[in-house]
Amino acid sequence: MTVATTGLSSAEAARRLHRDGPNALPAARRRHPLLLLVEQLVHFFALMLWAAAVLALVAGMPALAVAIAVVVVLNGLFAFAQEYRADRAAQRLGDLMPLRATVRRDGHLRQVDAAELVVGDELVLEAGARVCADGEVLAEAGLAVDESMLTGESVPVRPVAGQQVHAGTYVAEGEASVLVTAIGAHTALAGIAALTQEAKPPRSPLAAQLHRVVVVVAVIAVAVGTAFFGVAVLLGLPVAEGFLFAIGVTVALVPEGLLPTVTLSLARAAQGMAARNALVRRLDAVETLGATTFICTDKTGTLTRNEMAVVRVWTPRGAVTVHGNGYEPTGSVDGPAEAVDQVRALASSAKRCSPTAHARHHDDRWLPVGDPMEVALHVLAARLGVDGPSAEAVRFPFDPRRRRSSVVDLDGVHVTGAPDSVLPLCGATPGAQEALAGLAERGLRVLAVARREGRAGDGESWQHAERDLELLGLVGLQDPPRDDVAEAIASCRSAGIRIAMITGDHPATARAIARQVGLLGPDALVLEGADLPAGQDELGSLLDRDGVVVARVTPEDKLRIATALQRRGHVVAMTGDGVNDGPALRAADIGVAMGASGTDVAREAADLVLLDDHFGTIVAAVELGRATFANIRRFLTYHLTDNVAELTPFVVWALSGGSIPLAISVLQVLALDIGTDLLPALALGAEPPTKRTMRGRLHTGSLIDGGLLRRVFLVLGPAEAVMSMLAFLAVLVAGGWSPGGTASAALLATASGTAFTAIVLGQLANAYACRSASRSGFRVGLRGNRLLLWAVAFELAVLAVFLFLPPLPELLGGHAPSALGWGLALAAVPVVLLADAAAKAFLARKVGLTRTDRSATT
Ligand code: ADP
Ligand code: MG
Repeated sequence: MTVATTGLSSAEAARRLHRDGPNALPAARRRHPLLLLVEQLVHFFALMLWAAAVLALVAGMPALAVAIAVVVVLNGLFAFAQEYRADRAAQRLGDLMPLRATVRRDGHLRQVDAAELVVGDELVLEAGARVCADGEVLAEAGLAVDESMLTGESVPVRPVAGQQVHAGTYVAEGEASVLVTAIGAHTALAGIAALTQEAKPPRSPLAAQLHRVVVVVAVIAVAVGTAFFGVAVLLGLPVAEGFLFAIGVTVALVPEGLLPTVTLSLARAAQGMAARNALVRRLDAVETLGATTFICTDKTGTLTRNEMAVVRVWTPRGAVTVHGNGYEPTGSVDGPAEAVDQVRALASSAKRCSPTAHARHHDDRWLPVGDPMEVALHVLAARLGVDGPSAEAVRFPFDPRRRRSSVVDLDGVHVTGAPDSVLPLCGATPGAQEALAGLAERGLRVLAVARREGRAGDGESWQHAERDLELLGLVGLQDPPRDDVAEAIASCRSAGIRIAMITGDHPATARAIARQVGLLGPDALVLEGADLPAGQDELGSLLDRDGVVVARVTPEDKLRIATALQRRGHVVAMTGDGVNDGPALRAADIGVAMGASGTDVAREAADLVLLDDHFGTIVAAVELGRATFANIRRFLTYHLTDNVAELTPFVVWALSGGSIPLAISVLQVLALDIGTDLLPALALGAEPPTKRTMRGRLHTGSLIDGGLLRRVFLVLGPAEAVMSMLAFLAVLVAGGWSPGGTASAALLATASGTAFTAIVLGQLANAYACRSASRSGFRVGLRGNRLLLWAVAFELAVLAVFLFLPPLPELLGGHAPSALGWGLALAAVPVVLLADAAAKAFLARKVGLTRTDRSATT
């Protein structure tokens, strides 16, 4: 498959790029920010609050009506700002996704940005690549194109020279060179994209879960409000007061700020991950990452550096050792002359199997272009002074199922591939198996190279060509483990996350590398793809342990492994880089693709793209995911606790038939929700990961669970509510009021201001209590989250404004507390912290007990 062209010159390409513009689809028409803002003002809750405002106006309470309107607008602005930022962050992530294309320019192969393709370029495609322009096939070898995203047809088509390929499709098999005929808006894809652009993306599972929570809470709020309205009227209260009450309850319960705060903390996490070379492709993958319990990782490039060097070659005529530096073409070969000659023949055959790979000199360094392993074979050839001859050739490219590649040229057939796939095609070669075992046990990646001289119609199919071979030898390639992989693996272990190595490589090589990086588990289980049990349940129970190695796997095995582990309740992250890894990546909860070395297909199917291909990056992303998950639970706890404290005065008032006055007004509830509470909630959403983040198994898979609800409704909420009611009643009684009596307006305002202050201060303590789910607020300390410190300072400043800055105290109905009031309100801080500490200590004891129970029974 060689075409006698040199491609465009770079000058001509630059001229055309200037003339036609970049190869990009016209940007999706973004909705106007103003429209987004309006949307925030007319969604479900907003409409509910608008209705309340109108009713308040009709009922003759204009101040309330205005206040509610202010709340809706402020809330809308706040939500808009957060979503806008989240949106922008998501877009920036998209821009980081690498989409490169290989073209021939000035006679050389070049990697360019897909956007820089121009009409007339010669585009070189290989298996797994995304076709990024429309074009005409010039030449191809076994080309099959998956057009399902354009036509819906799932069987790949096989275009031959002269036929068309289209942008947006993928190369499923083989390779081709293509003359670009249309780019950007002129491609067939552009037409289809214009049609589908209007469709809104479906809501993510996390967003759906949260939305359900919010709607349920809202319905409860309205129901409770209405019910108590009925009770109030029955108790003989004026309708207007009952109505006021209903609105108060509703507003207190509706979690207005929830959704945007969650979205923003996910977006922030996604940005943090991007900074650490991990790109999430959907925001809610952040949450799933945090819940990961099993990581299936491949070996080459992820655990190792993917810097390949041939260090040892075995041939039937003796073995040689190869020395040299990286991909430098100079080096030396030690061994008997006979063996060196044989290695020359081997290098020549191996080099022909991968014509495009080579090392390039750049800035005084030799860099690999193409698959590093193939480059290493070229380097070997260079060190032996072998040049690559042969123009006309038929190639059968590498495919992970066949695990070999071959080429038929004037000299004969040349095959390079995994030894277990090549040796059976060769005549008996004494010593080959022993040599293979010896190389693999050293952790070297082993390739077999074989040949048959002379050709007789061999170019028709690989089945026909790859037979009756003579083994030239076995190549041992070194690929050193990455530096900090051992550390990342240890961190997974301490987090209770299991790891398995899933590789296409030889079991002995895989075992040696797994041992070197500390992945191999205590029972040192090494399996082969072909030996995996047929039943999914058996497979699951066999693999569900730490440190298993599965070698010689096919993409189909990977898919089975992912689903078998999921059936055992695991949240599975699975890496993949090949053309056929798409299904496994999609099936896994978190599909992880390689940004540097993987195929476009794998990247499109993945949820997470590693820009540096590094295993440690997966672990860093899991850590950030966990931290974010914890943060969302933190501010949920914080938010809901506040709701309990806000609701209590209304319940007490209604249940006492109005004989105990309303401790806080509806306007004060609003002031709490959007005044003092806002920033601490945001700051809790920005809590950084700590040493504890990766310690211990994750105990819950869902955001809102029994533990969270118990904390809110049995511990934090009641502590805060009791303290504010106590402070309220004490101030009233000290002012001469007794139950059932009427208090003067001034006394009521002071008492009410006291209740309000107690809630604000209780929330301040609550913010620190929420910083940890297991350690008390006393122990987490004031530092560690600087943002929270600022937020708390702001909270106190806003409290002062509400209490002292006219006309706010009059409007809200709460004046500055008396001395007694201040004392009691301040007491809310230690009381909330103590209640929280006691509950945590109790839980710790209970968990400790059940742990010993369990270890006693198992
Ligand atoms: P890994 O899990 O280590 O990435 P692969 O699935 O990429 O393994 O490869 C499996 C085996 O196929 C390798 O051990 C090697 O023997 C062989 N192989 C990989 N790439 C090529 C190639 N380009 N040409 C020939 N053989 C290859
Ligand atoms: Mg690979």
